[in-house]
Amino acid sequence: MPKIKPWRSKRPQSKVYHDNSKCHVGNNIEKANMLLGKGNKQYRCNICEKLNNQGK
Ligand SMILES: [Zn+2]
Repeated sequence: MPKIKPWRSKRPQSKVYHDNSKCHVGNNIEKANMLLGKGNKQYRCNICEKLNNQGK
């Protein structure tokens, strides 16, 4: 399962966290803007959600 520990973008306009290593949005976050954990993001990213639901 590529479901991994959550990570998020530092950017304030980003409202979601990611927890699926196949998520292309999550993977597009530049290393410099990447933070581990959910932080204050309340929602999981839609794409991560979908991948998780599909068992990917
Ligand atoms: Zn995601």
